[in-house]
Amino acid sequence: MSEPKTAADYRQVASRLKLPSKAFIDGAWRDAVSGRSFENVNPGTGEALGRVAYCDAADIDLAVKAARRAFEDGVWSRRAPDERKAVLLRLADLVRAHAESLAVMESLDSGKTIRDCLNEIGGEVPTFFQWYGELIDKTFGKVAPTGEKTVAMIVKEPVGVVGLVLPWNFPLLMAAWKLAPALAAGCSVVLKPAEQTPLTSLRLAELAIEAGLPAGVLNVVPGFGETAGQAVGRHPDIDSVSFTGSTEVGAYFLKYASESNLKHIGLEMGGKSPFIVLDDADINDTLIGSAINAAFWNGGQNCSANMRQIVDRKVKDVFLDRVIARAKSLVVGDPLDPATDMGAMITAEHRVRVLSYIEAGKSEGAKLLMGGSASVGKTGYFVEPTVFDSLKPSMRIAKEEIFGPVLGVIAVGGLEEALAIAKDTDYGLHATVFTRDIDKAFHLAKRLPCGTVAVNSFTEGNVATPFGGYRRSGSLTRDKGAEALDQYLQNKTIWVSLS
Ligand code: NDP
Repeated sequence: MSEPKTAADYRQVASRLKLPSKAFIDGAWRDAVSGRSFENVNPGTGEALGRVAYCDAADIDLAVKAARRAFEDGVWSRRAPDERKAVLLRLADLVRAHAESLAVMESLDSGKTIRDCLNEIGGEVPTFFQWYGELIDKTFGKVAPTGEKTVAMIVKEPVGVVGLVLPWNFPLLMAAWKLAPALAAGCSVVLKPAEQTPLTSLRLAELAIEAGLPAGVLNVVPGFGETAGQAVGRHPDIDSVSFTGSTEVGAYFLKYASESNLKHIGLEMGGKSPFIVLDDADINDTLIGSAINAAFWNGGQNCSANMRQIVDRKVKDVFLDRVIARAKSLVVGDPLDPATDMGAMITAEHRVRVLSYIEAGKSEGAKLLMGGSASVGKTGYFVEPTVFDSLKPSMRIAKEEIFGPVLGVIAVGGLEEALAIAKDTDYGLHATVFTRDIDKAFHLAKRLPCGTVAVNSFTEGNVATPFGGYRRSGSLTRDKGAEALDQYLQNKTIWVSLS
């Protein structure tokens, strides 16, 4: 068996990487039409990684033209489903084969820990390409129950050219969540990664060509939201957009659609999710591990982060003692070190934003039990794991999405109070419930207005289960599961009259 890898090993891999710097349009690398580029920074060190093409509306237009031509040619959109499947399975294999270099690239680009990057890119990302590849040649249309003299078929067709606008917190995983069903469905794609994390989706586009995806079907166009992102939202020849990011920008996409071609908009947005611990819960390692993960996984930069931890008064003290002991053991620092549990915040500005929420919590009277500042003595954009007690539902840190490593405990006296506080939010993405009582678990699972309820563990489910939000966390569309295909397929009725 080979020795476990060290930070030095991953730095070696990093030194050999060729980082993408151009857009990938119509199967080829291209500079931005304007010739401009922007600096890409490593959040783990604060140093520049390189420069990347600064694409704007002109580049998006080139990408849409290539995507439209590929779609109309039928090189992908009319390929038999089992042939599309073969390409997606090859892509899954290629991602697995290149998982280590992709994971190192992602860690450098995003400040995420190498452990998380390896788990996501070595495991989940290829699973998505495999799963939707396997699903598409088992996806049937329907025949409607009409009379003797007619045959009415309901067939599924790809939507056309889709825009995917992505966040920075799980760069390649979010790309896979959307891209795998979009490609399986036969769509052509214009993908805009977040400006902070363009690298791995650019590399993925190159691997997709190697897997056999025809040129023009997948175009990756790096750039900024207000220029490239807006150009995707407003383009008259994009049929549908699937977006993950903030609720504020999600709302812009609805406006862009209404002011352009009424394209379909699928939205997966922010959250302020509750983690409920009832008085009968076992305060064991699973529960504490879940509480820690729910708040600190990915440095809390997670739309489904459960930072509002609503804990019954009877078990609050033991819960907090154990949470603090575990949080104190978390290693924060070098994202490339496999011993690191929590990497960096995505940018210096984002770290300032997170720290300002922590200050707001203190000034509003929440009790700071640990953490609360930038990790001193480290380069890069680190924030200490932070735990508050005595959170009140009316405080800003209990209402607004922080997107940082902050866990706050709200004490309650029983299930109904827990439910009332959990529901008191504009968001509705996720919730976790810990109880040994099956009736209470189902009572909460059915009453919580959110897209996913996890019982007795913190999880977003797996590839087979749909993920998305109620209320201001999302539209009716879902990522993951067979339901994700609905974003990329449309129904056509073919009514045949027989003589
Ligand atoms: P945004 O919502 O701003 O970014 C998401 C994507 O939208 C990025 O590709 C971004 O481009 C693009 N975008 C930004 N502005 C526009 C615009 N005016 N028109 C079209 N596209 C646009 O998220 P941020 O990265 O700024 O993060 C801010 C907050 O959003 C976080 O602190 C968190 O609260 C929330 N968020 C939620 C996520 C989730 O998973 N639900 C993921 C990321 C953030 P660009 O890269 O240039 O910003």
